[in-house]
Amino acid sequence: MARPLEADPERVHQGIQAIAGLGPMAVNIAVLVWFWGQWRPLIAVMSVAVVLTLANVVFLERLARRLSRSLVETLRMLLNVAGISVSGHFTEWSPLIWVFVPYNMLWFYGLDRWVRPRVAVYLVLMNSIALADGAPPELALAFSLLGLFGYLLTERRASLLRGALDKVLEQQAGLERAHQEMRQIHARAMEQEKLSSLGMMAAGVAHEINNPMSFVASNVHQVLKDLKAHPGLTEPLREHVEEVLPATLEGIQRVNAIVADLRRFSRGDPEAFVEYELNAEVRLALRIAHSQLRHCQVESELGEVGRMVGRPRQMAQVLVNLLVNAGQATAESGEVRISTRREGDWVQIEVRDTGTGMPPEVQRYLFQPFFTTKPPGMGTGLGLAVVHGIVTSHGGRIEVASEPGKGTCFTLHLPCVPVPPAAGR
Ligand code: ADP
Repeated sequence: MARPLEADPERVHQGIQAIAGLGPMAVNIAVLVWFWGQWRPLIAVMSVAVVLTLANVVFLERLARRLSRSLVETLRMLLNVAGISVSGHFTEWSPLIWVFVPYNMLWFYGLDRWVRPRVAVYLVLMNSIALADGAPPELALAFSLLGLFGYLLTERRASLLRGALDKVLEQQAGLERAHQEMRQIHARAMEQEKLSSLGMMAAGVAHEINNPMSFVASNVHQVLKDLKAHPGLTEPLREHVEEVLPATLEGIQRVNAIVADLRRFSRGDPEAFVEYELNAEVRLALRIAHSQLRHCQVESELGEVGRMVGRPRQMAQVLVNLLVNAGQATAESGEVRISTRREGDWVQIEVRDTGTGMPPEVQRYLFQPFFTTKPPGMGTGLGLAVVHGIVTSHGGRIEVASEPGKGTCFTLHLPCVPVPPAAGR
């Protein structure tokens, strides 16, 4: 957005002061030469010159520090009218004195907002006094016209220049916006690259763990089955059957879940894009995350979102991850709320909790793989990285609003039908 271009009256005034002072000096020298020997008019004009110079340069400038610039400029205008009238009277309205009229008007522009009314008052006053004092009307008309058009020209030129400057500023703002967007795209590309190299590593690790884990799981199952089938177990063996081996299987399931997360994170999941019912996935996610949400009040508000295109299993995974995080952050009496609603060709999914919230330093690293604030065994730091990967592969985006002590709200924006490049990913 271009800044409005307003000339600062003080700077305008300072800027023209030097030239403004030269004009009267030149005219006064001309008067001095022309009227040399006619002492009455000469003394009158020179006295007026001294008084006006002192008033303009010293008195009015001091006054400007206390009064508004408009008021000071109006006083200056009245003072100049008085000065020119005295000089005009004593020189019988010589054209040399009339020069002051258009000259004064030349530098009216840009001092404040009351210029046009002041121009009008100046011309009316000046001409009334001059004509009443017997000045030739054609001189009054000629110099007034000169003054008026000099002023209008200055005003028009300034407004054209201002228009051109406004355009330049607008273009500059556009460039700044484009630059900002480029920086964001660059940052996103860097993040994407980081995620994809981490993804490749994660896929390798997942693959390496997956194979041994499958035979560890099947062996433990087999041992448990065999031992259960054996009658008359000794006390230590019974303890193994009832506690140690089930706990081991639970551990194995957890490792498998982490490996599954890693594979999804690395986008090794080959699920195809299909039509699906988003609200059905929300209900499924609520059932899966139930054990993590038992302690708080869960609300769901599912709007008419219709059918969407995407990977439903992945979407359920996204929602489970968000709901589990919300549940873990929320205390006993807190609330977790999930809602869906359609907005044109997009769907908004909101997962809101009244939990711990997050300080800015946590929010900064939220989607980085392996970033967690949870104690070992509780978090892997992959949940939100998976969410991010899945949502972006569906052409969507995520917004997070969080306040420590108040809660967090994740909002997913998903296109109902992802554009082809996302569908191909
Ligand atoms: P994990 O849950 O395994 O720690 P995530 O990637 O899912 O990994 O989350 C990363 C971190 O983000 C969490 O450790 C937690 O600090 C923070 N976080 C995520 N969701 C919430 C939430 N709803 N409320 C508060 N903190 C959250």
